[in-house]
Amino acid sequence: MKKIKRIALVAHDNRKKDLLEWIDWNYERLIRHTLISTGTTGRLVEEALRKRLGEEKSHTFRMTRLKSGPLGGDQQMGALIVEGKVDVLIFLWDPMQPQPHDVDVKALLRIAVLYNIPTACDRSTADFIVSSPLLDAEYEPILKDYSSYIDRTV
Ligand code: PGA
Repeated sequence: MKKIKRIALVAHDNRKKDLLEWIDWNYERLIRHTLISTGTTGRLVEEALRKRLGEEKSHTFRMTRLKSGPLGGDQQMGALIVEGKVDVLIFLWDPMQPQPHDVDVKALLRIAVLYNIPTACDRSTADFIVSSPLLDAEYEPILKDYSSYIDRTV
């Protein structure tokens, strides 16, 4: 991982307010990095950052928006992780409500663990990640060797 991280931001509807508050607290650190977000979360984060930074500074952050989560955005995010294009995942999922795309949510969480991506599913862990000196440093995550799974004969 390079010094500039690719930070993925995803929040379910009941957690979007939490994420936006967290972004507002941490925007100065976050805008040094590249942001990637599912559709609706990304739109709200962009609006919040634009408001916070003002029009003349709103070009200072980089954001890629994917499809909305229920329309495949979580799967796109998972694919980016597999391709090595995501360094950190902030995923505030809703523990109180089933989602139409629950299977995609589970898949994204699984792939994040498989690729050893630092992942926060709550604000406390997100605080720990954003305040870690590693966020602005080079870092080489250790990838477990799963080759025996793909090389096995059936
Ligand atoms: P959204 O998707 O950002 O488009 O709301 C998030 C999700 O439900 O995974």
